[in-house]
Amino acid sequence: MKPNLIVQKFGGTSVGNIDRIKNVARKVAKAREEGKDVVVVVSAMAGETDKLLKLAHEITENPNRREIDLLLSSGERISSALLTLALNEIGCPAVSLTGRQLGLLTDNTHTRARIKEISGQRAKKILEQNHVVVVAGFQGINEHGDVTTLGRGGSDTSAVALAVALDAERCEIFTDVDGVYTADPNMVPDARKLDHVSFEEMLEMASLGAKVLQIRSVEFARNFNMPIVVRSSYNEVDGTLVSEEDPTMEQPVVSGVMYDKNQSKITLSKVPDQPGIAAKIFCTLAEAGLSIDMIIQNVSAENHTDISFTLPTTHVAEAMPIMRGIVGEIHACEVSEDCDISKVSIVGAGMRSHPGVAAKMFRALSDENINIMMISTSEIRVSCVIEKKYTELAVRVIHKEFGLENEQVQEESETRSPPERKAASS
Ligand code: ADP
Ligand code: ASP
Ligand code: MG
Repeated sequence: MKPNLIVQKFGGTSVGNIDRIKNVARKVAKAREEGKDVVVVVSAMAGETDKLLKLAHEITENPNRREIDLLLSSGERISSALLTLALNEIGCPAVSLTGRQLGLLTDNTHTRARIKEISGQRAKKILEQNHVVVVAGFQGINEHGDVTTLGRGGSDTSAVALAVALDAERCEIFTDVDGVYTADPNMVPDARKLDHVSFEEMLEMASLGAKVLQIRSVEFARNFNMPIVVRSSYNEVDGTLVSEEDPTMEQPVVSGVMYDKNQSKITLSKVPDQPGIAAKIFCTLAEAGLSIDMIIQNVSAENHTDISFTLPTTHVAEAMPIMRGIVGEIHACEVSEDCDISKVSIVGAGMRSHPGVAAKMFRALSDENINIMMISTSEIRVSCVIEKKYTELAVRVIHKEFGLENEQVQEESETRSPPERKAASS
């Protein structure tokens, strides 16, 4: 490990205007004064990526993804050059690098490319000259030399992958909230900042809707054991450490409540209850590159059943024609879509050893008369599909039910046995 090297990533709002860019420059300069070698990764200025996408959609409904990548990568080029100017202006020597100049090689999947390799040679040389390296996040190049981007929120992944490639001490993600919270702090005013979250929990949280970190960045961090600190760009408050689970520490039963409004449900009704039908439906979807989340199949009546599954709303337009084709082939009755749903989930490593957690979540929802349409669980997660209009209410009541606003209150509930309760309060 290079002990003095840190990677600092600043998100869109943190570089949203010139004053904020100057603020970032001061933060970076301070880290340097404290003796750190610093590599900075920046996002595009807030709203810039959406603005560029909108421009493309004003020209065509279905823009070419290669061209979209070139277009979107310009947002991060602008912010990296502006921050570099700001750093040099306050006497902190810095050099900017695009994804290409950094040597960040990806696969060929335009708009959601995966990182294959980061050469890092150029960055190392700049660091040796005692300069700060400012990297344009979210972008790389593929084997043909074409610009690719890493999917929305992808600068987080650029930063963690770069921290791994350069063998940094840690990766700091500076954003517009003080850290990872028990729920989206912009939705739940009582949400509490967590001091520590394990990689496993953070992976679940990110995949269930906590957009504070892109999922792939957490995968990188876990696979290479790179600690991440999520913290605010606007104050010095200690953030949240995302790192390996500490086996000697008691894990909270529930660490957080997440929601995802970008989910829809597709239902095939009166499907013949025969071997091979589910395989046919889901293989066809997989071949089209559509990832499915929850699946439920009803009890069979008169040799027919209903099958429902959820997928991101952005994939519905692609999935529906495929499903209509299948309905004809397998002689099912009909296919329908429901975009008015959302998924609400709880995550907690301590769930592994505590029964009754799911029941408690269901009770909180039923007390508010919120109907649960689908349920899925993993070792450290419970997810429920509900009507979209109840999302905020559901997140708040579940948060309250588990006492997440107060540290360790959830440990006093009936989910914990008496000896463990004693250990937790000592
Ligand atoms: P950036 O532009 O810095 O990358 P993002 O908007 O991608 O920032 O992520 C930060 C946002 O994530 C916060 O403003 C917050 O609304 C949202 N968020 C959702 N869930 C959580 C959570 N559990 N903890 C912290 N932030 C969360
Ligand atoms: N600018 C890109 C986005 O808005 C990448 C990022 O911010 O991480 O998704
Ligand atoms: Mg982000």
